[in-house]
Order: sequence, then C-alpha cells, then structure tokens
Amino acid sequence: MLLIKYINIVYIQIYGDMMACCGIWEKFDNENNTIKEYKYWKLLIRKNQAFLGACVAITKEHHDFLSELSEKEMAEYNEVVKDAEKALKKLWNFDGIHHLLLMMKDKHTHFHILPRYIETKEFAGLKWEDGYNKPPLGINNSPNQDVLNKIRDEIKKAIED
Ligand SMILES: [Zn+2]
Repeated sequence: MLLIKYINIVYIQIYGDMMACCGIWEKFDNENNTIKEYKYWKLLIRKNQAFLGACVAITKEHHDFLSELSEKEMAEYNEVVKDAEKALKKLWNFDGIHHLLLMMKDKHTHFHILPRYIETKEFAGLKWEDGYNKPPLGINNSPNQDVLNKIRDEIKKAIED
C-alpha cells in the first residue's frame, strides 16, 4: 500500500494535473504546439488558425470555473497576455484582438487569444484572409503541422526578443 501511495505521489509530481485531467492537452496538442510554459499557464498556438497567430492560454492545473483560479494564476495571466499581444502585434500588426473564455465543450480554464486583421496577410507561403467584421467563432482553417511549427516558432522568437 505504501508503495502504491509513493508511486502515486511521484506520478503527480512528474505529471501534475496536466496529463490526466480532461483531454485538453491532447486536443490542443501540448507536445507540438506549445509556445511558452509559465509557472501556472501554457501558451500554445491553436490547430485551428482561424486567424493568423491564433493562440490559446491554458492553466496547467485543471479548473472547471474561472472563479477557481488562484490570485497567483490570475496575476500570471497578465504576463501571458502581455507576451502574446506584444508578439502578435510585432509580427503581424493586428487591428483588434479577442480574449475568449468559452468553457462549453472543454471545461478546463483556457482563453482563446485571437488577433484580427483588416487586411489579408501573407505568411509561410499562404494568404490569410480574416473578414474583419465576421464574428470570431465557426471559422475553420487548420494548416498542416509544418505551417503550425513556423507560426509557433515566430511567436516564440518574438516573445523572447
Ligand atoms: Zn483538464
């Protein structure tokens, strides 16, 4: 019994609440799409690049509700937003930006960070049209992993600069 308890503790220390919570890490592909890891958050690019540079910020711990976030998690989100906005502005000079917490299908606290563009952008040999006046949901654009990697690396570089 003690051994099982010990193994459990080690497992929790290594994986935290991250791996076995609700499938959010698989859905957003933590392994390939992480831009930056913070103490309480991870910033990833979305597979659905409805808008060039679309990101998602996910709490490392599973919370069902925004009200469950600690003050430290909330405070650190400020840093995540600053990094994301600074990088996306610098890279593609967005004209507006959404921060959406939807929590309908994926009940694990996460914000979608969606830059919007009036003019069509070009990146990785592709044209990125926005349709600035359209609502942000229901738009699908899932480029292949090579393109996703390029976007991820550009944002990573811009954050580090
Ligand atoms: Zn979860």
